[in-house]
Amino acid sequence: MQTTKNQTLKIHNSLSGKKEIFKPINEGHIGMYVCGPTVYSNVHLGNCRTFMSFDMIFRYFKLLGYKVRYVRNITDAGHLVDDADDGEDKIAKKARLEQLEPMEVVQRYTVDFHNILEKFNFLPPSIEPTATGHIIEQIEIIKDILEKGFAYEVNGSVYFDVNIFNKSHEYGKLSGRKLEDMISNTRELAAQSEKRSPQDFALWKKAEPEHIMRWPSPWGDGFPGWHLECTAMSTKYLGETFDIHGGGMDLKFPHHECEIAQAEACNGHSPVNYWLHANMLTLNGKKMAKSTGNSILPNEIFTGENPFLSKAFSPSVVRFFMMQAHYTSILDISNDALLASEKGYNKLMEAIDNLEKIPTKNTSSFDFKAWQQQCYDAMNDDFNSPILIAKLFEAVKQINLIREEKESITEEDKSILTETLHSFVFDVLGLENRNNTNDGSKKLEGVVELLIELRKEARENKDFATSDKIRNQLAEMGIELKDGKDGTTFNI
Ligand code: AMP
Ligand code: ZN
Repeated sequence: MQTTKNQTLKIHNSLSGKKEIFKPINEGHIGMYVCGPTVYSNVHLGNCRTFMSFDMIFRYFKLLGYKVRYVRNITDAGHLVDDADDGEDKIAKKARLEQLEPMEVVQRYTVDFHNILEKFNFLPPSIEPTATGHIIEQIEIIKDILEKGFAYEVNGSVYFDVNIFNKSHEYGKLSGRKLEDMISNTRELAAQSEKRSPQDFALWKKAEPEHIMRWPSPWGDGFPGWHLECTAMSTKYLGETFDIHGGGMDLKFPHHECEIAQAEACNGHSPVNYWLHANMLTLNGKKMAKSTGNSILPNEIFTGENPFLSKAFSPSVVRFFMMQAHYTSILDISNDALLASEKGYNKLMEAIDNLEKIPTKNTSSFDFKAWQQQCYDAMNDDFNSPILIAKLFEAVKQINLIREEKESITEEDKSILTETLHSFVFDVLGLENRNNTNDGSKKLEGVVELLIELRKEARENKDFATSDKIRNQLAEMGIELKDGKDGTTFNI
């Protein structure tokens, strides 16, 4: 593994729009920040795809032997319904609608987020900080930006002055926009707006009396602007300049552009060496989003209870489906694509199950060392998981041919094959070994089938007390029986 660690890893940097050779600031160490979820609703599969892309990247860095400090925040304040600094806080709005404390909303959806990520076999980040836990740090940054002349205070709110910043820096360099174009494309400022220019963004917003999520500050009671939390938390845990900042493509503008502006205003230099953006998951060709209703929740896919799906799919199959696309490509989800992924996943796992049993010979008829290097090469080329998967299927083909004694493998190559398959399938792609995870569930399914059989017999004997007892007690355990014309099916 040491030899492959030193191979060049190339990463597509959104800032330059090019693939660049990756060079960490401190040899052997990586600092990576990824914008986390706004916890005001259940995560949908689109959100999961972005976080999964970075989970895979985190996993690959670990395989290469890097010590990674991976910071993924929780946005629990400051994210307004409207990107132009208007409207309610998303969490406060949900709290009002559901008559809950905002922190109850935060707790509920943070727990949901963690549960879903665990089902998908995510590795936990090194630090998972919250916006509300870093209000003091955010206030300090605002003071600094004000002192340096890049922001102004109006009536208890503080705004970042994009025009002043753009005189000495380049606002728009990440998203490839020019401030002049943005200005000519925007409507005049609304008469009631406090901003000097529509492009300015809030660092601190005054809290109106009805706004519950509020903190004291030098400018009066209020709350931080959304972009500020990521600058505060990334600087605190990773420093003024760190290696990697990631997020979904839709965060490039304005969120990440504003993060760059804030950090450059404070420190005079760029905060991030490599900006990585994961592309969107679409459903029926349209971006998956909760707000439009064009979304699937992870639990709906695990149970099959969604009109877009003909059946349930396991978290590993969904994960395998996501990994079959490069993280920078748009991926459209459909029932057919999931069915095809399930077939592929089963084939891969079957080959891994058979690996131990394949016989060894004095010679190998396939170059397993070159194949191992090609697996690394795929991932070293901007984490190209679809090419990696194609390589894994070359190994599947070899395993099947060796079993049929049409090809041969030496003991040494068998260890290379086993180690490489395990590293990439389980450690990097994060798929779970069906034999480990499903052994228990297969037995459980067998037990439920036995109970269905006993219930059928009870009903035939008109022993309805027993049949109802079986049904009700299973229901209490979360196992639902459904009687249909072709017999009884169940859902765990
Ligand atoms: P949010 O909770 O809205 O702040 O989003 C959390 C993360 O999910 C962000 O990185 C978004 O870019 C990402 N995201 C939102 N919708 C999608 C989608 N349809 N496909 C992939 N990522 C998404
Ligand atoms: Zn962020």
